[in-house]
Amino acid sequence: MNILDSVSTLKGIGSKKAKIFSDYGINTLEDLLYFFPRKYEDRRQVCPISELVTGKEYLISGKVISKRYSGGARRRNSPLSLIVGEGKDSIEIVFFNGKYIANFFNVNGEYVFYGKVSENLDRKQMLHPEFYKAGDAADIRGIVPVYPGIKGISQNEIRKLQLRLTEIYDQVEEWLPEEVVDENRLASPAFAVKNIHFPADGKHMLQGKYRLIFDELLTLEAGLCYLKSGARNEGEGVAISTDDAGEFIGNLPFRLTEGQLHAWQDIEKDLASEKAMNRLIQGDVGSGKTVIAQLCMFLCARSGYQSVIMAPTELLANQHLNSFKEAFCKYDINIALLCSSMKAAEKRDILEKLESGEIDILIGTHAVIQPNVKFKNLGMVITDEQHRFGVNQRVTLSQKGKNPNVMVMTATPIPRTLAVILYGDLDISQIRTMPEGRKPIKTYVVKADARNRAYDFVKERLREGRQAYVVAPLIEESENIDAKSAEELYKELTDKFRGFKVALIHGNLKAAEKDGIMDTFASGEIDVLVSTVVIEVGINVPNSTVMIIENCERFGLAQMHQLRGRVGRGSEQSYCFLICHNESKVALERSAIMASSCDGFDIAEEDLKLRGPGEIFGTRQHGLPEMHVSDLVRHADVLEKAKDIAKNIIDEDPQLTDPKYVKLKGRIKKMFGDGIRLEL
Ligand code: ADP
Ligand code: MG
Repeated sequence: MNILDSVSTLKGIGSKKAKIFSDYGINTLEDLLYFFPRKYEDRRQVCPISELVTGKEYLISGKVISKRYSGGARRRNSPLSLIVGEGKDSIEIVFFNGKYIANFFNVNGEYVFYGKVSENLDRKQMLHPEFYKAGDAADIRGIVPVYPGIKGISQNEIRKLQLRLTEIYDQVEEWLPEEVVDENRLASPAFAVKNIHFPADGKHMLQGKYRLIFDELLTLEAGLCYLKSGARNEGEGVAISTDDAGEFIGNLPFRLTEGQLHAWQDIEKDLASEKAMNRLIQGDVGSGKTVIAQLCMFLCARSGYQSVIMAPTELLANQHLNSFKEAFCKYDINIALLCSSMKAAEKRDILEKLESGEIDILIGTHAVIQPNVKFKNLGMVITDEQHRFGVNQRVTLSQKGKNPNVMVMTATPIPRTLAVILYGDLDISQIRTMPEGRKPIKTYVVKADARNRAYDFVKERLREGRQAYVVAPLIEESENIDAKSAEELYKELTDKFRGFKVALIHGNLKAAEKDGIMDTFASGEIDVLVSTVVIEVGINVPNSTVMIIENCERFGLAQMHQLRGRVGRGSEQSYCFLICHNESKVALERSAIMASSCDGFDIAEEDLKLRGPGEIFGTRQHGLPEMHVSDLVRHADVLEKAKDIAKNIIDEDPQLTDPKYVKLKGRIKKMFGDGIRLEL
């Protein structure tokens, strides 16, 4: 057996199961080895049946004394009942759907069961326990790994496969330089892998786990350092004069808020200094980040430089185009839009004008980082809603110019620990004030069966001429997920809101369709917009003052906060209803946080306490690769170490050309996938 063999070389893995594994990113035996348990069950002791206590989980072993199964091949869903053990020391094992397993058990056979003990009319029972023949490969008397669920492959199967892999543990090689291993007193990778799957005891498991966490975080940091080493523009920057700032600010229809002014002061210093700017602007939804970008781009144009702003969706790029056109109508400045859905001829025209320098300001989506986009003299690059992009995309954008000033904007209130990892190369400005006259959005948690009351409330607002958003977690109905789909809601609401115009928007629509619908909504012709999270970022329709979020338990708090930011954009009081289908303690606590605060930074902090960062900032939210064993906040101390080591490595060997880093490169490549260009 070789660690690089395909999983399909294992007995029992046919093409169908190989495909399932592949869907979970498991292709080789090594991948399977690195598929770690999510928890363990202590099955070191077999509990005598006489000592079982109702309500707890046990491992029991015993002889089947009798078996009752009344179903035949044709009748389905007949329960199977087994009596295991003798006399008073017996227990009934019940499987409600016995058809497929009735033949597995033989009277007088010895079996092992693991499950929770319950009681029925004085008789001890186990319902649907895990089971196997005594002495079978799956009969692990020890600490038993429980793996993350894989649809179509049982825990027992995974365990048996993992047991087979014990043969190749010795092929798991050390990959770190000796001094790093010694200095950090790391266990060997082989030890780590063995003890994460089948630990002898808790101490071994923790030693192994520490090594794996260390490996994962070091790989992450090395990848980030590698990406960023090309990103920070340490050299002399493009000089942008700030002389005309007063003119632009004076012409605005409003006064800048205190927070905006602070951000501007930071930027002004950056621009005045000889070095290029590298700045992150962090500000809640609606705090007015766009105008700061506009001001910068205005100054670039006045100084004779081009600038570009990249947004995560076409919808948002179009909206920027409109607001830029309005803000720049007084000035002789050329603005253009570049999106992938545009016609080839149109694109070609824009590309030419960019290269000749005719276009001053470019607004676009990912299209602007394509290799064919070339600028004449790029002075500043801006990424909007940075949390929707990967680090590598930001870096690619900044490489479009020669030491351009770099600004990234995000509404995700990232806790400091994470900000340092993600944006360690950037200076940070926060906008913590909202434009005047904004009222906090009144937020209510509504149980699913009371949602009609929320609808009645919405109707009243509609009658007053306001508009509403209704957000669903899914586009289409799904058999597997019990949640409202936008399509289903749309049907329901067209009926409920008869007399009003209801429309549906979701990510599967073509860009032009989406834009059309958004335009119609913005013009006020549509009253109720049913949507998925496509409206998450940047949409600005001040007349829309109510939002209903269906299945709020399915959204992250940070995400919900951003969604909610679509309302409360005008001077009218705005409202948000969170429809909660899950009344678990955590779900209710989370909703309560949303109801009690409108400050993104507060919400992020509370969410962090409740759930940990992995869940708040899913990969989609921060653009980092997925972590399997480590937790960026809980393991912050390891992360610090990893960061220092990674920095030293990259400082010493920026391209990782030294042969001793071959394995590190391989790991980085695997972790970052297409997100990284790294010569192997
Ligand atoms: P975000 O930070 O979420 O990108 P926007 O830049 O889209 O926020 O701003 C939201 C709205 O607030 C826009 O309509 C914008 O014109 C308006 N706005 C921005 N700054 C101010 C201000 N200082 N006073 C009043 N309105 C403002
Ligand atoms: Mg914005």
